[in-house]
Amino acid sequence: MPKFLKKHYIAAPGPTPVPHDVLLKGAKETIHHRTPQFVSILEETLEKAKYLFQTKNTVYAFVSSGTGAMEAAVSNLLSPGDKAIVVVSGKFGERWKEICESYKIDIVEIALEWGDYVKPEQIEKALKENPDVKAVFTTHSETSTGTVIDLKAIAEVTKKTDAVLVTDAVSSLLAEPLKMDEWGVDVVVTGSQKGIMLPPGLALITLSEKAWKLVEKSDSPRYYFDLRAYRKKYPDNPYTPGVNMIYMLNEAIKMIEEEGIENVWERHRILGRATREAVKSIGLELFSKRPGNVVTAVKVPEGIDGNKITKIMRDKYGVTIAGGQAHLKGKIFRIAHLGYMSPFDTITAISALEFTLKELGYEFEMGTAVKTAMKVLYEEVGG
Ligand code: PMP
Repeated sequence: MPKFLKKHYIAAPGPTPVPHDVLLKGAKETIHHRTPQFVSILEETLEKAKYLFQTKNTVYAFVSSGTGAMEAAVSNLLSPGDKAIVVVSGKFGERWKEICESYKIDIVEIALEWGDYVKPEQIEKALKENPDVKAVFTTHSETSTGTVIDLKAIAEVTKKTDAVLVTDAVSSLLAEPLKMDEWGVDVVVTGSQKGIMLPPGLALITLSEKAWKLVEKSDSPRYYFDLRAYRKKYPDNPYTPGVNMIYMLNEAIKMIEEEGIENVWERHRILGRATREAVKSIGLELFSKRPGNVVTAVKVPEGIDGNKITKIMRDKYGVTIAGGQAHLKGKIFRIAHLGYMSPFDTITAISALEFTLKELGYEFEMGTAVKTAMKVLYEEVGG
């Protein structure tokens, strides 16, 4: 295999590419976390992080992956036996359910087919039938199926009740519009290795005052993720924060501020649309009933080995995409347009997909998908 094919590109929904300017900040000297110098950087960074969530609520950072912030949401909001609605329509809704089970929560499950999405009326109905529900757990972008929910419309429903709306924005933050305060979302959790353009290892959470009232009442066991300790110490951190990750977060936010959050959302919309139209133009089908702008899930065509698609793209062409998870393994593949991505990353991913499908014997005219992507991109950003 020619050596030039060894250059690596990531088109997976996390970890996503990290800009050099961000990586360079991570290479700065690690200073002591209890110094006024570091606490001032931490405060500046966490204050600026509010912009990412479009909130005035305080943002807290953990040294963990996104799942840590999900666990923090469950253990801080609810006590054993408390009732919660959990929407399950993919791997990450399932994760909410598993965490709730671990904390002995009384679960009202809205179980949907993977690829489907929850409608506000379904949440409204479940809340009417269960007026004692304290929290509603949703997945803004279900990464396993490439599906986005109408979080704004769901918040319209929960806002009128005593229940708090919790959303997993691990993959959606910055890729999909999310206006926490304006929409009335109570708890948002995310991770660093997605839209924020950082390596893995940092989780963020932010809560409304309505949610904090539950935190004060919860008697679930918790220690590292006990939010009361973080609130008391803010802007300092009760434990050792990820010092170099905070430097990097500061730089990443600076880049996002410079681009403007509306432009970041728009960029994701454009790359998402280009990817969807490109794959459809060569006869492929989308998996999701409500495709989002984080990742495009595509059905593996009849007669093609789905596991080979991801393997050839990665090992031969150097482009890492994602396969299907759980029962979707081998049945779908997922091309991301998440984080530090430009139109040329999308063209790269689509062209590697074309090479791979050709090699696997899928019949289509070479160049069609790339041409479609280019047409969409030109329509959106060119001329
Ligand atoms: N939720 C969603 C929607 C995700 O995409 C992911 C990661 N793929 C997670 C939760 C879990 O995050 P982490 O792997 O950072 O714990």
